Amino acid sequence: MLSPIQTLTTEVINQISAGEVVERPANMVKELIENSIDAGADKIEIHFSEGGRFVQIKDNGCGIKNSELHLALSPHSTSKISALKDIWFINSYGFRGEALASISEVSDLTLVSKPADQKQAGRLKSLFGKKTSVEHTGAEKGTTVIVKELFQQTPARLKFLKTSSSETALIKNTIKAMALVHPKIEFRVLHKNKLLFYWPAVDHIQKRVEGVLSLSNTFYTNTTSGGINVEAVFCAPNETVVNRRQMWFFVGKRWVEDSTIHAAVMSAYRSLLMHGEYPIVVLSLLCPPDDLDVNIHPAKSKIRFKNSSVIFRTVHHSLRSILEKAPWIVNREQKPAVSTEQELSFPNMKFNKTRFQQKNFNFQPEAYEKDFQEKKVHDFSDPVPSKGPVSKPADLFSQPSSAESEDMSSTIKSMNMTQGSVTDVSSVEAQEVRQVVREAQEEAQQLVREDHQKTGYWSSLQILSQAHLTYILAQNRSSVIFIDQHAAHERALYERLMQSWNTGKGEVQNRLVPLALDLEESLVSALLSVQKDLLKIGLEIECSGPDGLVIHAAPAILKDVALQKALVQLADEIKSLGGSFAIEKKIADLCASMACHSAIRAGQALSLAEIKNLLAQMDEFPLSSFCPHGRPVFVNYPLSRLERDFGRRT
Ligand code: ADP
Ligand code: MG
Repeated sequence: MLSPIQTLTTEVINQISAGEVVERPANMVKELIENSIDAGADKIEIHFSEGGRFVQIKDNGCGIKNSELHLALSPHSTSKISALKDIWFINSYGFRGEALASISEVSDLTLVSKPADQKQAGRLKSLFGKKTSVEHTGAEKGTTVIVKELFQQTPARLKFLKTSSSETALIKNTIKAMALVHPKIEFRVLHKNKLLFYWPAVDHIQKRVEGVLSLSNTFYTNTTSGGINVEAVFCAPNETVVNRRQMWFFVGKRWVEDSTIHAAVMSAYRSLLMHGEYPIVVLSLLCPPDDLDVNIHPAKSKIRFKNSSVIFRTVHHSLRSILEKAPWIVNREQKPAVSTEQELSFPNMKFNKTRFQQKNFNFQPEAYEKDFQEKKVHDFSDPVPSKGPVSKPADLFSQPSSAESEDMSSTIKSMNMTQGSVTDVSSVEAQEVRQVVREAQEEAQQLVREDHQKTGYWSSLQILSQAHLTYILAQNRSSVIFIDQHAAHERALYERLMQSWNTGKGEVQNRLVPLALDLEESLVSALLSVQKDLLKIGLEIECSGPDGLVIHAAPAILKDVALQKALVQLADEIKSLGGSFAIEKKIADLCASMACHSAIRAGQALSLAEIKNLLAQMDEFPLSSFCPHGRPVFVNYPLSRLERDFGRRT
């Protein structure tokens, strides 16, 4: 028998809604931090312990008037009136006026607040919903909320709390998330009275992301298209993690879990990661309110986009276009050179002081010259690439003319004077000076080449040798580089095929003798179902009978055996998937497989011309630093590391 119908008491209603708002302590922490951010605070201090059953949040925001303190703890009272659809867009988190009321029902809560124009702070307490009257007290401008004994009188909720350590982990993540998208707010976080995090205010999200996630080498992009702004801080594809936890997504600065954004990010990193690897990305998306379906509980972190394919494309494109530029290569190799582009000019030999000094002190001139002189020991009969960076060794290593050297001596002298270390140029070893000068000269030439001939990075490397018939050994000014010949070629072939697919312009090359494939009938029809798609990558197939196919045309770069293997594999997959396959994914797999089987093998001897050709191909495709399966294509050993390893510097 059911009991008679009765209206619930406010207390019970409040406790139920408290459960929704404060499902777990981490949700409560989020609500309280959001309130501080809404109040315009630029300093937030958080103390917590007991897995979040004790939380104190202090801010320097606008505060609450004494006369309004009671209202702040009443249900449905808010100072942030806005249309519901705006919540993902406007700069205020709150709108329901429910959080404080709910928390005050299920805890021992103290609210202390002082607006700037009020002489004294006011304090209001609520012991499991029973409120005191407002008292005056001393406090600085801002608001402090202290929550103790959360859920003490709601045993059902208490029972559902996980262990203190898992709640603590959730709280930490929540705080990190809030901090990631609010770089201008200082966060101080104490756990059990010990400083856990301190993130000072910074002017850029990239700095904050590096601080919060303890990263040092991140990249940044910010693009707007169709009214959707995508801002992202991310790591190179060789810095990955084994789960999604370092993928942080925000929409309207709200931390969300969203499968569309996730899929778009993963597809942007396509072919740069190995199976089971996830990128490190903080991505913040701002979009017009009309793009979102707002009929979703806002406390939940799930959202629904009205047109998720637009969001997918926008996010994918924004991230992919920067990943394709492979900024990590520029960062590692070319940044210093680029930064001096305006300062160093050739052939007038103007030196940049700072740069010159840096070189002088960080660089080991003997090591440098030795390296370059020893370039002649490598395996090739033609030691110097005809158009490479050291195309005219005589020029590079010639003695500066006396006029030049005089000019330089005075430059050096004045530099040393300013620096206050060595004041007499004659005490600087003449050879060392010449070396530094040569180096600057070579650098200047290099810059001119980069500028005028747009020599690609890979082609500009000086080829030294081939190690173990597997790795190309090369060097530039600052490092020794090993390139995996198979992985590099595989990548270049893959990119070329994908480019044909994307542009729809495959380089079709008719075969003199068509290549026949004997296949089961079902596999033949599987391949015929994607005949048009194959044509886009230059593969022209035709049915030659119930269990046979012929290939009339194929890109010349592919080997027959690669075609056969890859097509059989594709046919098998299409057959096993029935009609349910995304052709883009299948084509990418097909291209990866054909590239892999057509690429130069490990163990294959390469001539200098072949190596040069390979490096030139790598330049055509900026993503050439990872093979399509995500393995790195090259390893870079900075000279500084070699010098350290050999004890030449500490
Ligand atoms: P909401 O944020 O949805 O408005 P809350 O229950 O979280 O609801 O807060 C109620 C009201 O209390 C807010 O609208 C705001 O006016 C005030 N308030 C809460 N926290 C703070 C704070 N840290 N600083 C200033 N005002 C606050
Ligand atoms: Mg709020």
